[in-house]
Parts: sequence; structure tokens; C-alpha cells
Amino acid sequence: MRISHAPQATAVAPPEWVSGAAWVDEIAAPEGSSRYRVDLVHFAPGARTVWHRHPLGQTLLVTQGTGLVQCRGGEAHIIRAGDSVRIAPDEWHWHGASPTTFMTHLAIEEVAEDGSEAERGSQVTEVEYTAGPFVH
Ligand code: MN
Repeated sequence: MRISHAPQATAVAPPEWVSGAAWVDEIAAPEGSSRYRVDLVHFAPGARTVWHRHPLGQTLLVTQGTGLVQCRGGEAHIIRAGDSVRIAPDEWHWHGASPTTFMTHLAIEEVAEDGSEAERGSQVTEVEYTAGPFVH
């Protein structure tokens, strides 16, 4: 057993992964034959991931605030605290805060057998981001 007592140091999200300000608290990382990863990710208003995909998909659980999630070819959807999102393997998508609110989610995924975790694509442009349901 290993207890990590709060408060724990938070890490700035890598800029190649997120546009805007976001922080990551690592909850669990692959070790030994275990391949799951769990992160608590905090997005400042307007911050969002780049387009990306996960080899075995991902589950998000919004724990605080309001945000957006979009899969390629679909509309952006509002997500709020208590909502969970299942993203299918290899489905291109992004997730982040709304333009005016913070959003925190748990991100749960499995690393592929070959160790690969995710593939990054392009940034979510302002046009894509503001096409979402918050802007009319
Ligand atoms: Mn994702």
C-alpha cells in the first residue's frame, strides 16, 4: 500500500498537449504489468487539449466546473460536474474548460501493450472552439 497524502504538488500540463493554462495531478501511472493511468486535470477558462486520440480510448469524469468535449466530425458538447464521457479507441477528440469557467476532470485510460499512450494532432483553433454551444 502507498498513501499519497494531500496536498500534493501539481504539474503544469505540457504545452504541446494543452493550449491555455492547465494543471495535472497524477493519481496512478502504469507500473509493472498494470497499464492504467489516472490523472486529475484542471483547466483554466478557455484552456483545452489539442486534438488527440488514445489507443484504447479514455473515460472522463467531470469533478468540477463546466467544459466542452468534441469528437471529430461531431458537435461540441457541454459537460458538467458529475458527467462522464467514454471516448472510443482511436477516436480523435479534444476536451477542455468552457470559455468562462474552470473545469476539472478525472482522465482514465489504459496504455497500449506496446507502451504507446496517445497521439497528438493539431491545436483546437479559436474557430473550432468558439463554434461550440457557449457562443451564439
Ligand atoms: Mn483525451
